[in-house]
Amino acid sequence: MKEVINFIKKNNIGHIKENVKLSNSTTYKVGGVARLFVWPKTVEKLVLLLQKLNKDHVSYKVLGFGSNVIFSDKEYDGVIIKLDSFDKVKINDTVITAGAGVSLVKLAYKAASVGLTGLEFASGIPGSVGGAVFMNAGAYKSDMGYIVSEVKVLTPELEVKTLYNKDLNYKYRSSFLQDNPNYICLEATMVLRHGDKTEIKEVMERRRQKRLMNQPLEYPSAGSVFRNPEDDFAGRLIEECGLKGYKIGGAMVSEKHANFIVNAGGATASDVKNLITYVHDKVKDETGVDLKIEQEFVNWE
Ligand SMILES: Cc1cc2nc3c(=O)[nH]c(=O)nc-3n(C[C@H](O)[C@H](O)[C@H](O)COP(=O)(O)OP(=O)(O)OC[C@H]3O[C@@H](n4cnc5c(N)ncnc54)[C@H](O)[C@@H]3O)c2cc1C
Repeated sequence: MKEVINFIKKNNIGHIKENVKLSNSTTYKVGGVARLFVWPKTVEKLVLLLQKLNKDHVSYKVLGFGSNVIFSDKEYDGVIIKLDSFDKVKINDTVITAGAGVSLVKLAYKAASVGLTGLEFASGIPGSVGGAVFMNAGAYKSDMGYIVSEVKVLTPELEVKTLYNKDLNYKYRSSFLQDNPNYICLEATMVLRHGDKTEIKEVMERRRQKRLMNQPLEYPSAGSVFRNPEDDFAGRLIEECGLKGYKIGGAMVSEKHANFIVNAGGATASDVKNLITYVHDKVKDETGVDLKIEQEFVNWE
């Protein structure tokens, strides 16, 4: 890692931080230490960095806002790449182009403030544009697949390329990028519609209140743990199995929303993982439904 750090400094790639606690960079507030965090300044610097990491066989992971990942408690012996510098937003009539590091919540409020409708669903999703494009984040029967027209990516061959909506293979919480995790989203272009500012803001406020009522936002979590099975709700099945409030270590099935597991205080990543496995198996045994997990385990093998 010393050599990688020297390379980053020599080539002025961007800010770095060594031995960073992942619990401070993920919304579950669990996970071990990562050897190195890097914030590349530009696409060119990102390419240089990846060339070096590939050459030296150093593992890396792009991290958005850490609101859908569960890093294990062990050290991540690699580089966490943060695209916070990719923060430009351009609005041209109904078309918004936003860098991968832009906050989805802020983008939704920005769209509302200029009277654009279509991003209201995103106003309570605490991720980055890159993470949302990757996850096909969504809510209220809408998702990124409805609005993204194209995404600028860095391919595994380190070429900048445009992928169009049809290439992104968007389905419920899945995308081409999830199937091809060596692609990096650099920026996304979304097509919205003109709307009434007051109405848009009212919809967002109503939904914010609903989330505050129904979701355990007072605790660290990563949102819904399981994807909803067709024509049903994971939360309903978990509740039916009597699991609300069930705890392993510091991890607990939320009393407010059964499809949320929360860090009720001092949870380890293993507590969270063990509880997810327990809930999955119990639901399978009692209802026959094989719930699919929405969150991503990183560095467990
Ligand atoms: C309270 C709460 C509520 C939530 N509500 C919702 C909801 O309503 N709907 C919903 O869909 N989700 C919800 N989530 C989950 C989460 O916010 C989304 O999945 C979000 O899109 C993740 O974005 P992120 O930037 O945090 O991604 P991260 O968790 O940082 O990363 C997720 C994955 O995306 C990859 N990734 C990130 N950036 C890039 C990039 N630039 N290029 C390539 N890959 C990248 C990462 O490598 C990782 O594999 C919620 C989470 C919380 C904590």
